[in-house]
Amino acid sequence: LFLCSWGAIAEGKYLKYKDPKQPLGARIKDLLSRMTLEEKIGQMTQIERSVATADVMKKYFIGSVLSGGGSVPASQASPQTWVSMMNDLQKGSLSTRLGIPMIYGIDAVHGHNNVYKATVFPHNIGLGVTRDPELVKKIGAATALEVRATGIPYVFAPCIAVCRDPRWGRCYESYSEDHKIVQLMTDIIPGLQGEIPANSRKGVPFVGGKTKVAACAKHYVGDGGTTKGINENNTVISRNGLFNIHMPAYLNSISKGVATIMVSYSSWNGKKMHANRDLVTDYLKNHLHFRGFVISDWMGIDRITSPPHANYSYSVQAGISAGIDMIMVPNNFTEFIDILTFQVKNNIIPMSRIDDAVSRILRVKFTMGLFEDPLADLSLADQLGSQEHRELAREAVRKSLVLLKNGESADKPLLPLPKKASKILVAGSHADNLGAQCGGWTITWQGLQGNNLTSGTTILNAIKNTVDPSTQVVYKENPDANFVKSNKFSFAIVVVGEPPYAETFGDSMNLIIPEPGPSTITNVCSSVKCVVILISGRPVVIQPYIDSMDALVAAWLPGTEGQGVADVLFGDYGFTGKLARTWFRTVDQLPLNVGDPHYDPLFPFGFGLTTKPTHAK
Ligand code: BGC
Repeated sequence: LFLCSWGAIAEGKYLKYKDPKQPLGARIKDLLSRMTLEEKIGQMTQIERSVATADVMKKYFIGSVLSGGGSVPASQASPQTWVSMMNDLQKGSLSTRLGIPMIYGIDAVHGHNNVYKATVFPHNIGLGVTRDPELVKKIGAATALEVRATGIPYVFAPCIAVCRDPRWGRCYESYSEDHKIVQLMTDIIPGLQGEIPANSRKGVPFVGGKTKVAACAKHYVGDGGTTKGINENNTVISRNGLFNIHMPAYLNSISKGVATIMVSYSSWNGKKMHANRDLVTDYLKNHLHFRGFVISDWMGIDRITSPPHANYSYSVQAGISAGIDMIMVPNNFTEFIDILTFQVKNNIIPMSRIDDAVSRILRVKFTMGLFEDPLADLSLADQLGSQEHRELAREAVRKSLVLLKNGESADKPLLPLPKKASKILVAGSHADNLGAQCGGWTITWQGLQGNNLTSGTTILNAIKNTVDPSTQVVYKENPDANFVKSNKFSFAIVVVGEPPYAETFGDSMNLIIPEPGPSTITNVCSSVKCVVILISGRPVVIQPYIDSMDALVAAWLPGTEGQGVADVLFGDYGFTGKLARTWFRTVDQLPLNVGDPHYDPLFPFGFGLTTKPTHAK
């Protein structure tokens, strides 16, 4: 009889949960009522791609897979390879008794940045400068198409951290130190997921079909407020402070139908967010009525203890009890499954908590149509790195630039530069370096230095494309002063900055531009009129050099479309960007945010000189 009834299901007898005409709640309830504990815990488990196979998906009923750390081997360069990998795993999931599709997630944090030939948009710090919600919405929509081009339905973005200290290695993932700008930028969510229908119930997730992806607002909450900007550390702030600065963008995200929310590694006043039931369950789920799922960060529950994984049973219990629904395990999944199974069987974790978690995961999967249309195809393959998306990224680059200095005085501006000049010098480690331009979270987790990482336009090439054919462009990465003097250049463009980094690797207590950046500035700017273009994930130390520069542009981490920099530099468009962060004088002023008492920055929040286009297009 047992075998026979399973067989009947497999043969396609009417199953309520498979019927798209049934209301969402009824489908969830029906499916949940059929699931074993093993199947439920499988749904809550997110594993890394490197340990996922079709057999593993099937054997453990795994609910989700991720590309961890953004590291993608060259063999997965093409949409074809990605799509067939997706479908292999999905077929594993679909061949289970109940055929619940898995959901695959990836860190597409500035475009589909893990994938070769994708359009890489400016990192959030540059987008905050634009203060342009329509633009980020379009970027969200373009990102969704590129991610779907590879068959992926879920992104771990946007990061809605409010970075309060540039020493934090993730400052560039934050739109601003000002929560109001971050709130405005949550319009990337309707871009990624689609516009939530007007009559939606509060807190209900919405993902509009196969050209859209489920988004993830992260990292809940207070990730950008840690002491000295130390990554994953402790945010010391009053409840009012937390709710006034770090929380508001979550309210916007929920009202825009965000499907998932990722918990922060950080602590709030000494308590790990991954174990914070008050904020995850009582506030987010019960008070704000968030109905999507809460996901842990990578090994986030392991890190409830220090050192991580020291008492994993305790961590599992604390994390699940706090209200985390999907666990980014991501490798030792059998250990996780065994421990959670034991805890449920022994009433350490109530079944109602498991049912809450699974219902939320199923809600997102049903809502986005994964049950009806689980397999990926190549119909959107030509969206990856499309010309239209590159144009959009180029526009974003133009609007993200902040002009900090322009000539000796307002009546003697150096910019915009003339396209016609006898001979110009382009110098600096970042001038012809796509990797540096894109920053961390590009192809690999930490990003890559150099030019061959993906396709795009370096600032050097953009300059060459833009100047008059009669203008001679000389490129020398790190020229000495004699070379500059003896060459009689009309002017020089110096492009220097920070190397790529991500997360803790980017924490910096001194925020200096590494050598040879400063010597390039000195060698060039002491001998010829110079514009410095700074490529950095945050404000860095520039006070010692600024007098030697004739003009200074903060370009942040512009991504693959360096042409946007040349567009503005040579006057096809004007500079319009305004700092979305305070630019400090010296690091001992930090943290320094607009509104602080004794606010004495080098450039205040909101600062940005403007120019008018000279060669209107
Ligand atoms: C980061 C998250 C990211 C996750 C998955 C973690 O280290 O904190 O922002 O989404 O890895 O790659």
